[in-house]
Amino acid sequence: MNAREIKDLFDRIKSHYTMFTYDDKKIQEWYRFLKDYDNDEVNEQFNKYLTNSYDNPPQVHHLTKNLSKKKQEDDIWITECDICKQRFKIVNNDMYEYEKHHRKCQKIDFIDIMSMKLHKKHIASVVYYEMSDEELDNAYREIMDYYMSHRENNDFVKRIGV
Ligand SMILES: [Zn+2]
Repeated sequence: MNAREIKDLFDRIKSHYTMFTYDDKKIQEWYRFLKDYDNDEVNEQFNKYLTNSYDNPPQVHHLTKNLSKKKQEDDIWITECDICKQRFKIVNNDMYEYEKHHRKCQKIDFIDIMSMKLHKKHIASVVYYEMSDEELDNAYREIMDYYMSHRENNDFVKRIGV
């Protein structure tokens, strides 16, 4: 329920129980307990409460008794990989898929930079994106080993400081 629906509910309660009063503070307070419940279900509970002819207006627990909370809305935001610009939908701050992707992109980006420096050409990055994690790790390690073994007598490698 939202605050507007709680105010409408209060008006209903008031029309049956003249002693019932409310103000903004009371709306806020009830909102804390009712926000996760469905408006129609709470109103239906109030109908049942009325048919029992209680003399006093209902308390929150009378209206939520036996009701289950609604599923919370998912918190969704969009982020973008700074390397390949692919967009990711992040649901409830779960960064798992994005981080996995980003690690892969960093490795492919590194291999590409090395290829440019060594062979003066870009890698066919699509081939690397299709690799399994293991295959990519091997390719990454291979290029690292290559540079490490050549760094002693390679002016170019000395210059880029790998
Ligand atoms: Zn990426």
